[in-house]
Amino acid sequence: MKIDILTLFPEMFAPLKESILGRAMEKDLFTLNLINIRDFSLDKHKKVDDYPFGGGDGMLMTPQPLYDAIMSVKKDNSYVVYMSPKGSVLNQTKVKKMASEIEHLIVVCGHYEGIDERVIELCVDEQISIGDYVLTGGELPAMVLVDSILRYIPNVLHSDTSVVDESFSSNLLEYPQYTRPREFMGLTVPEVLLNGNHKEIEKWKVEQKLLETKKYRPDLLNEDK
Ligand code: SAM
Repeated sequence: MKIDILTLFPEMFAPLKESILGRAMEKDLFTLNLINIRDFSLDKHKKVDDYPFGGGDGMLMTPQPLYDAIMSVKKDNSYVVYMSPKGSVLNQTKVKKMASEIEHLIVVCGHYEGIDERVIELCVDEQISIGDYVLTGGELPAMVLVDSILRYIPNVLHSDTSVVDESFSSNLLEYPQYTRPREFMGLTVPEVLLNGNHKEIEKWKVEQKLLETKKYRPDLLNEDK
């Protein structure tokens, strides 16, 4: 997968170069480009924002630099996403679909009070939100989107089956997990996980998934998956 992220603050994306995704990028399992929208401004002071027509608080990102930045990378196989609190809220089903269907993802990060509506009309295929709250910019949401998608790209994770058993892969949450030591602060690891009986361990995991979901996210049990 090829990903272009359009932002006024490319330096905010350092976290994507660390850990699992950093190693995957070094192995060329995906391509990630950061594009500074300001570089496309035709204004002599490289201005990228202006007051909204009709009044209202704050500044809006102007259409010209953003439109030109998108058009500089957009191809026939591109899918343009604008991170926006107005978008449909991201979930694992959507992440999985995007990972399998999109060849070239362009992610647009808004800032200030957002972007001129005409850019959405002209270039955006979909608006995606990461939750019903408002952040100062689309950079953190873009990182959330990209991280969640890249976990589905083959060989990015240590094992490609990691995504099969985890929370939200069905309508159940993951079972509780334990590592060494066997006893910590007086709390012990469930005996079934230590006896090497794989059939019993699997049965325990299935039961625990249901218990965890009932306890933390009972709403998931009513969802069709
Ligand atoms: N005025 C906008 C509104 O009320 O819908 C909010 C703009 S917000 C302060 C600035 C930018 O942050 C947005 O253009 C968007 O790119 C990003 N953003 C903020 N909250 C977000 C969320 N929940 N999901 C995705 N992007 C978000």
